[in-house]
Amino acid sequence: MSKAFQAVKGMNDCLPQTSPIWHYLENCLRELVASYGYAEIRTPIIENTQLFCRSIGEVTDIVEKEMYTFVDKGEDSLTMRPEGTAACVRAGIEHGLLYNQQQRLWYMGPMFRREKPQKGRYRQFHQFGAEAFGFDGPDIDVELIALTARLWKKLGFADQVELQINSLGSNQAREAYKVLLVEYFNANFSALDEDSQRRLNSNPLRILDSKNPQMAELIGHAPKLTEHLDDESQEHFKRLCAKLQQLGINYTVNPTLVRGLDYYNRTVFEWVTQTLGSQGTICAGGRYDGLVTQLGGQATPGCGFAMGLERIILMLESQPDLAAKLSAPVDVYICTLGENAETQGSMLAEKLRDDLPELKIQLHCGGGNFKKQLKKADKSQATIALIIGDEEATNQAVSVKCLRVEKPQQTIAQSLLSEQLPLLFNEFID
Ligand code: ATP
Ligand code: MG
Repeated sequence: MSKAFQAVKGMNDCLPQTSPIWHYLENCLRELVASYGYAEIRTPIIENTQLFCRSIGEVTDIVEKEMYTFVDKGEDSLTMRPEGTAACVRAGIEHGLLYNQQQRLWYMGPMFRREKPQKGRYRQFHQFGAEAFGFDGPDIDVELIALTARLWKKLGFADQVELQINSLGSNQAREAYKVLLVEYFNANFSALDEDSQRRLNSNPLRILDSKNPQMAELIGHAPKLTEHLDDESQEHFKRLCAKLQQLGINYTVNPTLVRGLDYYNRTVFEWVTQTLGSQGTICAGGRYDGLVTQLGGQATPGCGFAMGLERIILMLESQPDLAAKLSAPVDVYICTLGENAETQGSMLAEKLRDDLPELKIQLHCGGGNFKKQLKKADKSQATIALIIGDEEATNQAVSVKCLRVEKPQQTIAQSLLSEQLPLLFNEFID
């Protein structure tokens, strides 16, 4: 026997037993963004490498070491997308969606980063993101945050997440602040870890984002960006905080929150949880007012976020009432015995799917006696089994058996079933 294959490291299969929870989350997300008037954008999984270098920034973890990049037949350098914003902007510019317009967009799909796989961190993972273009006030920042806050409530773990916000100010203010920061870290050079020493010249702000606990104290005493903001950014941040308060959205100002991507300015935010260990950020975003021009478009302000769906699934899985949120894969299971009954069963299944498209109907295939078939029906999580044996077939009827609560079995004419089944179904699940 030849050796069986395994999935590529850090890339997961989504198996039938976990797909219902993914569907639940995906449906919640689609409904949520629709209720805020956002429209979906789908972009390719592969883009030109330069798109990511120019947007995310050369001196970031993603571009330095995490991208899956390859040369396509000796010609172009291409990259499997590590995030979604760059492609949204690229597509927006390419199709004339941005300049002088307002767009509220969302996307969902796989992203790729060559990271060390661990709980909540994978090499293929999934993000849901929203991007708003053409709005420069803090009102849109707050809308995006309110949308995510609503999601945690809907998913049932609002009490386990905390909103952290910060402002990165304007590019100019940030440049001036960088000088102060470099001075401070230079004076403490020996206390910096290797990564931070390297970043001191290339991207000193990223030192603040270090996950190394030994750096925490040094970072805690560093000059604070929020104390060196330009007047306009300060005003923007003040209004942002006031609006969050008006909506009753609690937040913490975290002056060391800088985000790992270079394109952000002014507002940045993260939703973090203590329940997932060190992979605690479930959603992150902010403003990127310079990105559209940086990628060759006409100046258009932007603001958005991305959330890691695997981490949100982990949060959902730890909830006691999860099962109640997930709908069963099958509602009605049809069992038949005998050739005549089998024919009637398959015709009945098709008729019910015509008449009652909202019900999930599974027809038993593969033969076997009723005992075996009913075992399968039970395992399918169906609420109702419809049984057709010789007697039912002769009478053009079905026996209806409730699989979840104690109810007497009853016989119904096949012709009345489309009418009666929804009533029985409601009665049986109550
Ligand atoms: P982290 O600090 O956890 O590495 P990040 O700053 O690299 O996150 P972003 O690029 O802002 O993350 O991506 C937004 C969200 O996508 C993260 O908050 C996280 O929920 C999720 N995410 C990022 N990388 C991964 C990964 N490798 N596996 C699973 N989820 C991820
Ligand atoms: Mg990362």
